[in-house]
Amino acid sequence: MPAISYFHKKVSHTHFIRMPMHNSFASPTITRNLTLNNHRYLLSGLDLISLVEEFGAPLYVYDAATIKQQYERLTRAFSGLEHQIKYACKALTNITILRFLRSIGSGLDTVSINELRIGMRAGFDARDIVFTPNNVSFEEIQQAIELGAQLNLDNLPMLERLGQVYGSSVPVCIRINPHIMAGGNEKISTGHVNSKFGISITQLDEVVQVVQRYRLDVAGLHMHTGSEIVDTDIFLQGARILLDAGRQFPSLRFFDFGGGFKVPYSSGDTETNIEELGTRLTELCHEEMRHRGQPFYACFEPGKYLVSEAGLLLVKANVIKRTPATTFVGVDSGLNHLLRPMFYKAHHDITNLSNPYGVLQRYAVAGYICETDTFAWDRPLHEVRQGDILAFHNAGAYGIMMASNYNSRPRPAEVFLFDGKAYLIRRRETLDDILSTHIIPDICMETCTV
Ligand SMILES: *Cc1c(COP(=O)(O)O)cnc(C)c1O
Repeated sequence: MPAISYFHKKVSHTHFIRMPMHNSFASPTITRNLTLNNHRYLLSGLDLISLVEEFGAPLYVYDAATIKQQYERLTRAFSGLEHQIKYACKALTNITILRFLRSIGSGLDTVSINELRIGMRAGFDARDIVFTPNNVSFEEIQQAIELGAQLNLDNLPMLERLGQVYGSSVPVCIRINPHIMAGGNEKISTGHVNSKFGISITQLDEVVQVVQRYRLDVAGLHMHTGSEIVDTDIFLQGARILLDAGRQFPSLRFFDFGGGFKVPYSSGDTETNIEELGTRLTELCHEEMRHRGQPFYACFEPGKYLVSEAGLLLVKANVIKRTPATTFVGVDSGLNHLLRPMFYKAHHDITNLSNPYGVLQRYAVAGYICETDTFAWDRPLHEVRQGDILAFHNAGAYGIMMASNYNSRPRPAEVFLFDGKAYLIRRRETLDDILSTHIIPDICMETCTV
């Protein structure tokens, strides 16, 4: 089948970077600090193909400048409110990334005791770390208390247990499920009625009873209604419910409005209007402070918003395979390295870094795992040749953290671009790493067989 030309009429040529010598166009990319300079793609000034030559493929690359820009945009949007940003570190937990976020003023949101420990090893003060577990044991909660993190509980039995063991001595934040439907899809929306997260707002009376019975010190109320919020009205509805619930708890010092701010995954994609949200939420909170007659501060727990756009996954095209229906690009990666396209049907933009001005053709981009791990179907890319390096965009959040050793493949290395230099912040795994937890018991297989 001949290559299909991609140029739709509706796409204006002004959207393409013109190269007069070649009479061809390089497609624009969604990654903000990515530039095309003399046939080479540079991320914050560093040549990506050179990084692959130095560190190998597949390779995760993170741009510090993008993270900082996002952090600053968020703090600016909420500058009218006393607030704290708690980076939801499950999105990207590399200890260097955590240290960087600490250096620019962030706190942390953690969902497991190990995330909490990693945060502390990154230098965070436990008091700047929120521990928001779901369905963990009371022992794990006790460990977090001993480390000194801010506890955020999301079920009545554990709240009761906390009261029995600690009474009023441990301040607690309570995660409420306001039952609003937000979030990009079923798997990432957590605030609806069937969600396992949070204590239902309809059970607020029971929460109040437990709080009174044990004289619990309720320091804050929390909601996290899901990833990929685009509708400010829905977010504010949830916030309003949370603020109303807060009237039952006079000792409150803060409201934690969670994360879930959406970033664009392709040009023209929807995103949270963070400035509008900031203005309207600030107004709502100030109104509530007047009602309460005392101030409180706000917390936000962005994960994706801070790191998604900062990351690229660089992979190599191993095989170009033409079938009667499709041209496949087979790459040296798969659902073991970037699961989102398969797990969430998420769209990730792809750029052929090696051939920016090649003729656009349609491809299916598939991984090397023995599953149907297709990253993209029917995707226009500048002609891909064997050995070309492709970049998956928006790979900073929930990329390597969801990676596995399936098919006994090692996880990729991670590189951090900071202040004009590239730093290896996680080495590539080896076969020995994969085998390191295996144990061969001292039995003789030969004589044990029947
Ligand atoms: C995952 C999570 C977040 C961050 O979600 P994003 O969509 O990445 O912003 C925030 N708070 C809690 C409690 C979470 O579990």
